[in-house]
Amino acid sequence: MSAPITPDLVTIPRKQSPDSKPDLIGLRRDALKTAFANIGTPEKQLNMRVNQIWGWMYQKGATSFDDMTNLSKDFRASLAENFQITRPEIVTRQISTDGTRKYLLRIAGGHEVEAVYIPEKNRGTLCISSQIGCTLTCPFCHTGTQKLVRNLTAGEIVSQILIARDDLEEWDKPAGDKRLISNIVLMGMGEPLYNFDNVRDAMLIAMDNEGISLSRRRITLSTSGVVPEIIRTGAEIGCMLAISFHATTDDIRDKLVPINRKHKIAELLQACRDYPRLSNSERITFEYVMLKGINDSNADARRLVKLISGIPAKINLIPFNPWPGSPYARSDWERIEAFADIVNDAGYASPIRTPRGEDIMAACGQLKSATERQRKSAKKIAQETGT
Ligand code: SAH
Ligand code: SF4
Repeated sequence: MSAPITPDLVTIPRKQSPDSKPDLIGLRRDALKTAFANIGTPEKQLNMRVNQIWGWMYQKGATSFDDMTNLSKDFRASLAENFQITRPEIVTRQISTDGTRKYLLRIAGGHEVEAVYIPEKNRGTLCISSQIGCTLTCPFCHTGTQKLVRNLTAGEIVSQILIARDDLEEWDKPAGDKRLISNIVLMGMGEPLYNFDNVRDAMLIAMDNEGISLSRRRITLSTSGVVPEIIRTGAEIGCMLAISFHATTDDIRDKLVPINRKHKIAELLQACRDYPRLSNSERITFEYVMLKGINDSNADARRLVKLISGIPAKINLIPFNPWPGSPYARSDWERIEAFADIVNDAGYASPIRTPRGEDIMAACGQLKSATERQRKSAKKIAQETGT
């Protein structure tokens, strides 16, 4: 257990009046082309202009047209008159004792969304959200207890990366291992495959070689099992896939991951077998949350390896992260290790995920609600103390 600490909490004041001009962040190249054509950019300059502005936004992190010094003054003025480049507001940034950073961001409509940066040895992973809340109701997941508020736009999804790069001062660095944000996981709030088009557009921006330039192998999308969109993910994004598997019989999976009632284990695993480019170096990650007495027996471990047999895979064991009122407990450490041994002996890597950022409630399945709860308790304290 981590010791209680006072995290580094930075509160940034709310922006006064949001500008209503269209924002260029999150637009695909073809949409940018149309936008620039609409303000009178000559046809033969369009591709060049898109490339220039794309580079400024996604390679250099520019947020002002004034900084785009290779564009004429007149063109810059015309851009500024018609468009904007904004970031969501950072409401709070918390830094855990283990270096994990959690950003609470405010987006259009006053909604709030979280992103988490997890530094590791020689790499760093940014965990981003795709929806505010979730329509699915996996009973062990705190996000699942919240109603879906709305899908994030492609701009809001990509902006989580841009904000973390601003904060970590990571603009203009070459691609590869030396980057602080070397990997992206879509494992924050929401079911990414219920917001497919926006997630796809955002990830295509993240992968674009003239911008953020992250390899598709460094992006992992986690899904509870939306089978038709798994097929589209392979075809239209091509990133790495993680499946929230969590149970080895349809009976138990129907309860733990309710989308299983629609897409059963056999159908899900067939989509995994058909996922393109699978090999020893491109494996599917099966996430498996360890719930005491529910899904953590030796028989479960043996069924699991049998089910995924033949799929290039690694199994990520996630010790359950409890939240107040959660109906489950974390499996004992010995149980998790015994489970991992069976999986390992069958030839699968089975890393046990170390919970990160526990002191700032940044662990898997705890996002957003934690902040709501903190607020509520702050309100309660204020009421009690009359402040
Ligand atoms: N909706 C997607 C992605 C977000 S959840 C999905 O379900 O895959 C990211 C991962 O955290 C999933 O594997 C999810 O099952 C897991 N998770 C959710 N709540 C958790 C909790 N309380 N403890 C541990 N893992 C949890
Ligand atoms: Fe939604 Fe994923 Fe949580 Fe299930 S685990 S409720 S799909 S965010």
